[in-house]
Amino acid sequence: MRKQMVAGNWKMNNNVVESELLISKLLEKFPESINSNKRIVVTPSFVNLIPVVSWVKNSRIEVAAQNMHFAKNGAFTGEISADMLKNAGVNIVILGHSERRTYFNETDELLAKKVMTALENNMEVIFCFGELLDDRKSGNHFKVVENQLSKALFELEALAWKNIILAYEPVWAIGTGETASPEQAQEMHAFIRQLVAKKYGADLANDVTILYGGSVKGSNAQELFSNPDVDGGLIGGAALNAAEFEAIIKAV
Ligand code: PEP
Repeated sequence: MRKQMVAGNWKMNNNVVESELLISKLLEKFPESINSNKRIVVTPSFVNLIPVVSWVKNSRIEVAAQNMHFAKNGAFTGEISADMLKNAGVNIVILGHSERRTYFNETDELLAKKVMTALENNMEVIFCFGELLDDRKSGNHFKVVENQLSKALFELEALAWKNIILAYEPVWAIGTGETASPEQAQEMHAFIRQLVAKKYGADLANDVTILYGGSVKGSNAQELFSNPDVDGGLIGGAALNAAEFEAIIKAV
């Protein structure tokens, strides 16, 4: 069954003291340990994963990593493996974030390898993709998104999709304060679900969680998330503030 999710991408923010403070505020607001259809995820830096995992134990808050290498282990200075993440109690990883694509030259071909490694390690993947401003201005946004998904995900077998969460993040809306309109978000999410349906069938497509990311705030979350094909959000800046993050979660 399709689940709703709000995932906070902390990026390179929050040292250990700041992480503890933010987590303690979130735990006050969302203490229930029971599984809910609405998932709450936080994504600290690698160095803070282990403490954050221990702080949210027995709560409904889940922890994800921001990136991962595709190799099992080896001479990859500065990188982190699936085994290391699993060992730290982390079973979800964000892959393909636009900042990884832009600043670290991650391509869909590389991301396909990372996705495969994550799935082989029984991890869930929050897969990010989305068009640049120029793509949208030139009317190429649907083609760009289709290409990204085909190259990185459409070789997967159907069964693997139970561990895939899609995050449509138009690059022009990330960290810019400019949000896609609810109509733009719904139009693209419906298109994405159709693509998945064409490749894997309507049942599977209907079960896939598709998040929207790009300047979501407490004040605009409700109108974005009320669209039938928008199942929650991947949140950057607003996830660093407990009250804003809470408002966004409540909007799902
Ligand atoms: C993001 O980095 O995934 C993101 C959506 O950032 P922001 O919410 O700050 O636009």
